[in-house]
Amino acid sequence: MTREPILEPTEPTDDADQAPREPISRPDDLADADRALRPKRMREMVGQRDVYARIQIAVDATLKRGEPLGHILFDGPPGLGKTTFALCIPRDLGVNVQIASGATLKAPKDVIPYLTNAEERSILFIDEIHRMQKAVEEFLYPAMEDFRIDLTLGEGVNARTINMRLKPFTLIGATTRTGLLSAPLRDRFQMREHLDFYTVEELAEIVTRNAGKLRVAIEPDAAVEIASRSRSTPRLANNRLRWVRDYAISKANGRITLPVARDALAMQGIDPLGLDPQDRKYMETIARVFGGGPVGVEAVAHTLNLAVDTLIDEVEPFLLRSELIVRTPRGRRITPAGFDHLGLSLPPGPDGGGQQSLFGL
Ligand code: ADP
Repeated sequence: MTREPILEPTEPTDDADQAPREPISRPDDLADADRALRPKRMREMVGQRDVYARIQIAVDATLKRGEPLGHILFDGPPGLGKTTFALCIPRDLGVNVQIASGATLKAPKDVIPYLTNAEERSILFIDEIHRMQKAVEEFLYPAMEDFRIDLTLGEGVNARTINMRLKPFTLIGATTRTGLLSAPLRDRFQMREHLDFYTVEELAEIVTRNAGKLRVAIEPDAAVEIASRSRSTPRLANNRLRWVRDYAISKANGRITLPVARDALAMQGIDPLGLDPQDRKYMETIARVFGGGPVGVEAVAHTLNLAVDTLIDEVEPFLLRSELIVRTPRGRRITPAGFDHLGLSLPPGPDGGGQQSLFGL
């Protein structure tokens, strides 16, 4: 028997909460606005075609066999659709979903209610699964493998262990850092899917569709402009779209044209590559304070008064992918393209020949 998922679409509560810089990770106050634009079914998702095709086969086979779906791990930078997949899958399967965050699972007792409440074939989604404590991880092994947990009752000489059977369920984990997961946990996921950055065309499609959901008129070249300044990330494309929509309502006649989109994004300090003031400050710090690098990320984080995790999760992935910075064994370094983007000249290399020599150019 299938049931309705417990996560039903909800209306946005507040679309207008725009700060000048939108962090890519999901603070609670953005969650509702996020939900309004989030696809409800996998077929509504744009891009990630390979991942979609594989999951679709697994979902299809699960529906035909009537057995639980194998455990799935999604990894990739924030805002690329890990949660969206994790919430679309239960809808497509017609089962319930429970949502937990790895950061709040500090001891086995924190995860027990989720496991014992899991219904047959339902989904347990653990976001930021790399932040779970080791003891919780180990406690999950038999739950994932044999649908059983080992509980210790009593203390000292009176302590005894009982096995408790669980209903067969599916664990979906999401992480920005697969490297932080232990191999035994990683190996217990039947499917491991990496989400990559989106193309401008894919993001333009998302922007156009979501402008429709927000009931605002947008011209095609404006959608492409917003897409190309969204750092290849759907969450940022949505955030930028909401800001441009507000700007269009306040400063223009409510219609998003190319000049309106450009002016609105310029006002937020978003440059043609999509970098925002924080991205540029990070690069400028390495360029000016640390002579272009190499420099450890901790030193940059301290100088900028930011958390190391924010730099690693939110700022660096796109800059690395765009080859504006590189990661070396000795730390981060700005590339010639990075200097060029900042409008700075390359510092002299050790042989006085310019930093190109460090890059073997
Ligand atoms: P993550 O969990 O990887 O941080 P989310 O799944 O929360 O990212 O995605 C952030 C937002 O981006 C979602 O609310 C959704 O609106 C949008 N989004 C993500 N992936 C897609 C996609 N493939 N198609 C359309 N919109 C997407």
